[in-house]
Amino acid sequence: MPQIITEQNLRNLIDLLVKEAKLVVGPKLSGSVVLYEPLTAGADLTLDALPRRSSKELFFPICEDILSYKRENGAMKVKDVDRSKFPEAVLIGAPPCDAGSPAILDAVMSWDYKDEFYLERRRKSTIVGIACTKGDDACFCRAVGLAPDAEAGSDLFLTPLKDGSYACNAVTEKGQALVAAHQNLFAEGAGAEPKPFVDQAVAKLDLVKIKKWLEEHFENPLWEKIADICVGCGACAFICPACHCFDINDEGSTDDGVRRKHWDACGFAKFTNHASGHNPRDVQNKRYRNRIMHKFKYYDDKFGKTLCTGCGRCIRACPVGIDIAEILETINTKQD
Ligand code: SF4
Ligand code: SF4
Repeated sequence: MPQIITEQNLRNLIDLLVKEAKLVVGPKLSGSVVLYEPLTAGADLTLDALPRRSSKELFFPICEDILSYKRENGAMKVKDVDRSKFPEAVLIGAPPCDAGSPAILDAVMSWDYKDEFYLERRRKSTIVGIACTKGDDACFCRAVGLAPDAEAGSDLFLTPLKDGSYACNAVTEKGQALVAAHQNLFAEGAGAEPKPFVDQAVAKLDLVKIKKWLEEHFENPLWEKIADICVGCGACAFICPACHCFDINDEGSTDDGVRRKHWDACGFAKFTNHASGHNPRDVQNKRYRNRIMHKFKYYDDKFGKTLCTGCGRCIRACPVGIDIAEILETINTKQD
């Protein structure tokens, strides 16, 4: 039987989760922009706009310590971060282009090397996704196989209804457990009509055709044409729910410091710089080519998934107007 939750009860649910000492993260007005931030009460939740940055930060923080070291009486003492202290968390109000990204990233984070920092946060998180009734010209989730009402990645999925309430579908056991623990906030029933979902300008892309073109056109004048203007700022990677490159540095002195993991981006000139000084991606268009290849060929080769949810953030953020959806449409229509 479908379940319904009113908007007030959704906010009450957040209040209860906060009281249960859960870390509740959701879209919140922060200054003049909406960001995913810890919610201290149900009243904090805003579902009026797509948050400027993605929700990957809940699982994969911008920067985090992974160990600390200190020389004591001549011996180096190393202390690991205690991951058991990571809080139980609920991500609430994430549209499919964000809710769906951990399901894509799980593959690489649990591949040859298990990233226990990411995986521990994933184990302790429940994702409450929401169908997208907002959006703008940059959105293209449908074109990459998602949709404004795609449940992939969500544990509990909410569909906004015309009367202001939400139809709820518990997609996973975590979602079922969340509902069961707060059953008094949910009512049985089909509810009102759903609100209309977002319209999108980009036609569905043939991702198989795009991948084949990429395989055959590693060298192609298109790369200079579209990417010589890239300034390598890395904004597209940092803002992306699916980009996941990071660097590890020791910060401090040789006697006392921390080992720290922080985001990196293949758009940066030094990303592939060898110790010898040789850089296989010596010009910017080669770096941008890697971005497209990684998302639409290499990740699919390894994991059978596309590394893009069509959220459109990189299009909105790029200071020189590089539009990944336009590039994919160009490749999609190529005959050679
Ligand atoms: S590549 Fe761009 S559109 Fe695709 S998920 Fe990343 S930020 Fe969103
Ligand atoms: S945001 Fe634009 S300019 Fe900056 S690295 Fe990405 S594509 Fe290049």
